[in-house]
Amino acid sequence: MSKTLIIGCGGVASVVIHKCCQNSEVFDDIMIASRTKSKCDAIKEKLEGTTKTKISTAKVDADNVQELVALMKEYKPDICINVALPYQDLHIMDACLECGVDYVDTANYEPEDTAKFEYSWQWAYRERFEKAGITALLGSGFDPGVTGVFCAYAQKHYFDEIHYIDILDCNAGDHGYPFATNFNPEINIREVSAKGSYIENGKWVETEPMEIKRVYNFPEIGEKDMYLLHHEELESLALNIKGIKRIRFFMTFGQSYLTHLKCLEDVGMTSIEPINYNGMEIVPLQFLKAVLPDPASLGPRTKGKTNIGCIMQGVKDGKPVNYYVYNVCVHEECYAEVGSQAISYTTGVPAMIGAMMLLTKKWDKPGVHNIEEFDPDPFMDALNKWGLPWKESFDPELVD
Ligand code: NDP
Repeated sequence: MSKTLIIGCGGVASVVIHKCCQNSEVFDDIMIASRTKSKCDAIKEKLEGTTKTKISTAKVDADNVQELVALMKEYKPDICINVALPYQDLHIMDACLECGVDYVDTANYEPEDTAKFEYSWQWAYRERFEKAGITALLGSGFDPGVTGVFCAYAQKHYFDEIHYIDILDCNAGDHGYPFATNFNPEINIREVSAKGSYIENGKWVETEPMEIKRVYNFPEIGEKDMYLLHHEELESLALNIKGIKRIRFFMTFGQSYLTHLKCLEDVGMTSIEPINYNGMEIVPLQFLKAVLPDPASLGPRTKGKTNIGCIMQGVKDGKPVNYYVYNVCVHEECYAEVGSQAISYTTGVPAMIGAMMLLTKKWDKPGVHNIEEFDPDPFMDALNKWGLPWKESFDPELVD
């Protein structure tokens, strides 16, 4: 018997909820709580009768710690899966601490007014979680998330030291719109319009946005342009994986996406600085989000595949080893199964699995931890079982 509180009811949350309902043996009782309760009720209505999982819903403002605490005291969850937005992370962690509830998220905390993408704020909770005997599992999506598990798995089974890691995130899906983002537009655009960076010899190296481009021939997809981005898992992996000399993250973008983004940037629409419009303060990026397609609506339109994985180079028993581990996911298959496109799917499935690892005590380590700090084997098995099978190659094309 377990009780799971799911906070947020957007694109990723919808997949988490579907997957928990498929996995009723572990998730026999869930509560969906979000800002807009009607969205929670709609999913409950869709799934009730198809699952053994008991579903209840609530309205909550996850920026309000006291509201969260009141909800947790009433529902008494064992675990809370935060699939709202990164702005809510610390508030939800505060409430979990007060109520003794384990915590899982898929993106690191960000203050609304700066886009920094770093773990310092959440790592600062480590001792308090340890003392309370509860666990915060940070970054249990795909990237961060599965990418960290892939690295931990490689470290455990194939390497003495991993010197180079390239994380490659390819979305070759087509939704038919000239411009739309696959997950929350505000978070997505903040991420891709930020400066790029990677870690080399223990130091961050900063690049201009989209300055470094490579072409890669992705298995099951083919050649795509990809660009170096900053990504949050670089920070934790550089600490947790032995022997790292360089770690980079690349994401593919089509020319139409980049041209639109450049234009929106040039006219100031991606700014997070509030401006005064007709006596009202608005944030341009938030206004842009309001006019862009809702990512949750892309499901029925998106066709094609994603391929996300990690290429690693290092040594084992003094001999060089190259290793590539990746998952290929098909947008249409995700839609047929849970009514979402593959970006939400590849994030929501690992969030459910991360929560399952804690609930079943396969992972049992109070404190605040990134995903690669745990034993990767049961998570890798669960990926195969729950819809994200992975493949490996010991002779991959490398990125220069
Ligand atoms: P959506 O915008 O679709 O959903 C966010 C949900 O959170 C909405 O239901 C929204 O409510 C709710 N919400 C926002 N603010 C509050 C609040 N103050 N109180 C209560 N609920 C709130 O986003 P996504 O589903 O696309 O993304 C969810 C998370 O997943 C994000 O943190 C994103 O960064 C992360 N992510 C991680 C990835 C990974 O691989 N690690 C990949 C993709 C996303 P309302 O319905 O009222 O708007």
